[in-house]
Amino acid sequence: MTDWLFDPAPRPSLTAVTGGRLPVRRILCVGQNYAAHAREMGAERAEPFFFSKPGDALVAGGGSIPFPGATDNLHHEAELVCVIGGEGADLSPEDAGRLIWGYAVGVDLTRRDLQAAAKQAGRPWDAAKGFDHSAPVGPVTAAADWSPGGQSIALTVNGETRQSASLADMVWNPAEIVAQASRLWRVMPGDLIFTGTPEGVGPLRPGDTVRATVEGLSPVEFTLT
Ligand code: MN
Repeated sequence: MTDWLFDPAPRPSLTAVTGGRLPVRRILCVGQNYAAHAREMGAERAEPFFFSKPGDALVAGGGSIPFPGATDNLHHEAELVCVIGGEGADLSPEDAGRLIWGYAVGVDLTRRDLQAAAKQAGRPWDAAKGFDHSAPVGPVTAAADWSPGGQSIALTVNGETRQSASLADMVWNPAEIVAQASRLWRVMPGDLIFTGTPEGVGPLRPGDTVRATVEGLSPVEFTLT
């Protein structure tokens, strides 16, 4: 016997490349963490800032994603994603790094026209960033098997390269980002942290197939329908 008045939503989850599933709680994202992308968005080097997507914006493993409404300028942002496996607050980068269970490749889908309008009006980014199906993420590789350094990060649209950079160009590394997030929220198992995108963001159209890769990690691929 349950007293739910309607069924609770299913728990979003990711698969690990070595088997098993990781429950997903919420999605934090950092903005402008690669110098060249920050410049193309008109910003200088600065402390990281965060925005969020709901956990159920996750599209685990990619596949088929409905093209979102209310935009004439949907953009791709290829990103390294940290999966948090422990709990903590006010962490040093060293302690924060120990909470990272693993890494995956994600795409921070963005309704750039809505983001630009929100920026201009000083309004929140939720409709630009946290819409349904806005967070495709691939399978997770354990931190014991892969750690970020100078690997390549890239994104193709219909086979054509749009983004190509090195993780070495990140302004803040994953452990520093988790430490900074932990000063704003208690980070918990299942939290995902998108670590920002390099230069080369651009528009997507219905029918496009997007593939994002980070050297050594399982890619994520999806088609907009
Ligand atoms: Mn992003």
